[in-house]
Amino acid sequence: DDPVAAAVEPRNDRLLGGLLSPDFDDSSCLSRYRAGLYRRQSPHAVSPHLVASLRRYESIHRRCGPGTSAYERAVERLRSPPPSNTSDAECRYLVWTPLEGLGNRMLTLTSAFLYALLTDRVLLFHHPAGEGLRDLFCEPFPGSTWTLPEGDFPFSGMQGFNARTRESLGNALRRGEGAAKDHPPPPPPWMYVHLRHDYNRNANDPRFFCDDGQDALRRVGWVVLLSDNYFVPGLFLVPRFERALSRMLPRRDAAFHHLGRYLLHPSNTVWGMVARYHASYMACADERVGIQVRSFYWARISTDELYGQIMSCAHGENILPRVTQQGPNFTAAGDQPQPAARPGRRKAVLVVSLHGEYYERIRDMYYEHGAAGGDAVSVFQPTHLGGQRSEERMHNQKALAEMMLLSFSDVALTSAASTFGYVSHGLAGLRPWVLMVPVRKKAPNPPCRLAATVEPCFHTPPHYDCQARTKGDNGKTVRHVRHCEDLKDGVQLV
Ligand code: GDP
Repeated sequence: DDPVAAAVEPRNDRLLGGLLSPDFDDSSCLSRYRAGLYRRQSPHAVSPHLVASLRRYESIHRRCGPGTSAYERAVERLRSPPPSNTSDAECRYLVWTPLEGLGNRMLTLTSAFLYALLTDRVLLFHHPAGEGLRDLFCEPFPGSTWTLPEGDFPFSGMQGFNARTRESLGNALRRGEGAAKDHPPPPPPWMYVHLRHDYNRNANDPRFFCDDGQDALRRVGWVVLLSDNYFVPGLFLVPRFERALSRMLPRRDAAFHHLGRYLLHPSNTVWGMVARYHASYMACADERVGIQVRSFYWARISTDELYGQIMSCAHGENILPRVTQQGPNFTAAGDQPQPAARPGRRKAVLVVSLHGEYYERIRDMYYEHGAAGGDAVSVFQPTHLGGQRSEERMHNQKALAEMMLLSFSDVALTSAASTFGYVSHGLAGLRPWVLMVPVRKKAPNPPCRLAATVEPCFHTPPHYDCQARTKGDNGKTVRHVRHCEDLKDGVQLV
């Protein structure tokens, strides 16, 4: 059984303040009601309006999801669209399809879910063959499934859609479709929303974040979305969503924290890795420090230089103790025969990276030298997989397990602009210390900053002014959306 769940006083927030539905069988998804027990209590309250919206969504999904007669009718409408004078579809859908690494996928899925909540669409998860997504997440909606049944969907190759796809929203708007207000033509049976990183190069795809783009989509039965961006901040730019969003998420800076904890529950296979690793290495620590080291081709820096940056941040911000330079130190907490002047604290440091060097160096440092202040510092790294292989199931399971383990940290030190890091500290509800991107291959000064918000950064915002219909600076359009600190062109909720 799960030792942490058994040891922790049963908190009365098993459902995370009403965020989670009580209607699930515990054993089908152990992480759903347990992950919260491994984390510090969330400082962010869940609004009653969000709770009501989630329960409402669940009932729509139950009524319209795969396996229901409404779903069969919707698929039929897609195969043979009805004549133009028939009434609107009873259920409408949003099909999400995976793109890029796991962090990107989790952030786009969460963004898609918020969009589905706002527009009463049913979110469906497309698992293309060979994408390594099986046995990764639990079903999030009670009494239903979010998996798009294979073969049901009359068009294949969704992953290859791009800005030139004829059915895209941008192309429909360019052709002037959806513009007629008085006698609008029947909506097409489906549309594609192109929000991949290159979407803001043309003038029309960014109009997804404007009222007129939303008008064009409103009556369309099936919307297929492709994105590698956390576009939640973009939804806050759409005037018509403003009121609903301010009620659901009055603390904008906790948007991903709430929605991610609602939606993203690791499967029992992944949870097994998480719980075993935690019990073996982390559970008995007094403090858990998570360090996530990610390197990007566009931000080159040598291993020595990045290691120096990590340590100068960790020491400078009192995240890790400095070491004493004289040889063996008999005041360390592990040295029982001669009790230390003050009992040392046990700090468990979880290093998460594709590479092993940073972990090895930090571990060696506390092996070779004592920690000033007498703390006992233990350093662990679950894997160092070398490279990104997002199409392999086991690889993704390990990546997800590590994101979860990181999300149990008391203090987080992460790499700038990493969606992997965003997910971890977002779930934790923790503002991390962020290692700023290198300047001419050197660590910048200061080496890190405490993030302004727990929210992920929307790396490629539309930068479009809906009213003026020209380029615009979305870091200055609405009050709660500001430029990110870790990636200047991006925007985030504050
Ligand atoms: P980003 O590239 O940092 O924004 O994060 P993504 O999660 O989108 O893509 C990186 C992918 O590389 C992850 O999904 C993993 O597959 C892999 N990866 C990167 N860093 C780590 C790590 O620290 N641990 C593990 N297990 N995988 C990692």
